[in-house]
Amino acid sequence: MIPFNKPYLTGKETEYITDAVASGKISGNGKYTQKCQLFFEEKFGFKKALLTTSCTDALEMAAILINIKEGDEVIIPSYTFVSTANAFVLRGAKIVFADSMPNHPNIDATKLEGLITSKTKAIVPVHYAGVACDMDTIMELAQKHNLFVVEDAAQAIDSYYTGKDGIRKPLGAIGHLAAFSFHETKNIIAGEGGMLTINDEQFIERAEIIWEKGTNRSAFFRGEVDKYGWVDIGSSFLPSEIIAGFLWAQLENLTNIQAVRKQHWEVYHEELKTWCENNGVGLPQVPEYATNNGHMFYLVCQNMEQRTALIEKLRSQNIHPVFHYISLHSSPYYKDKHDGRVLAETDRFTDCLVRLPLFYELDVQLVIKNIKNV
Ligand SMILES: *Cc1c(COP(=O)(O)O)cnc(C)c1O
Repeated sequence: MIPFNKPYLTGKETEYITDAVASGKISGNGKYTQKCQLFFEEKFGFKKALLTTSCTDALEMAAILINIKEGDEVIIPSYTFVSTANAFVLRGAKIVFADSMPNHPNIDATKLEGLITSKTKAIVPVHYAGVACDMDTIMELAQKHNLFVVEDAAQAIDSYYTGKDGIRKPLGAIGHLAAFSFHETKNIIAGEGGMLTINDEQFIERAEIIWEKGTNRSAFFRGEVDKYGWVDIGSSFLPSEIIAGFLWAQLENLTNIQAVRKQHWEVYHEELKTWCENNGVGLPQVPEYATNNGHMFYLVCQNMEQRTALIEKLRSQNIHPVFHYISLHSSPYYKDKHDGRVLAETDRFTDCLVRLPLFYELDVQLVIKNIKNV
């Protein structure tokens, strides 16, 4: 059986967990948390990284940090995971859903300006499959209309964007804030886990407070204040050292994990070209300004019938592709709240996109062989 995903272990996870337990410091913000955060800050140049219990939580922290209030509007793609929207809905925001690009599930930046009103507070681009959104256009709009940009970089670790100025930046380093995920389906995993990264320094001090249940405990431990207490709203957003130890074993192997995943992706892309052409199936597109980080390999079928047939055929051969993202604008929770605009590209990806198995230990040739037989 070839599952859709299989979590890869580097072998050091339990060693670091044991070390964390033996150290006597197993609550959050200890040695391994700091190692993980420093890794993100040094490798990708984020001004501050805070380890969180999930990407969902990192997004919720971002919504608190930019002071989302009842009635504010936040623009997000409809083709995304619920957490992108929920984080802002929890603070009372109205979600304004944007359509995808015709050739990529990412938000169509050229159509965003018409969605901006005097109530718009933020744009939340999702770098789908770890492929960058058109960030120059999004950042220009944000600057012009005084909006915050929160990058949903859940799938986007170690992926890059090259702007019009020719400068290459890691995803997550462009907006004011960004959120990464270490869910077991992502490239780098911790079971459940995430990271809030901060590029706009004005948010650093308050982020630490929100992270530590609304207290200034982080400043206290650094000796900056002589007692700590309740200074703001917040929650328990930091994971234990047990999670951080696991994550550290993964981050140490980032280069290797990425190389293997990207190799699988390249093999899929190369070997399925002809089959896709012959069957009118679309391959994933990577715009010139973006890189591929080997997070996801997907195909875009002509219609839902073709997709269903492909999935059923592969399942009968014990290979388990999946489809995802029922458009949020037509979800049971939001359809009555949506403004009624038709989001045709989003709907097409909802109906036609299929994700092929992609994980470290995958036998990619076996999947390809079976697809070619369909
Ligand atoms: C996985 C994912 C999330 C949620 O991440 P968790 O760490 O599971 O909370 C959010 N947004 C996108 C686009 C994702 O792919």
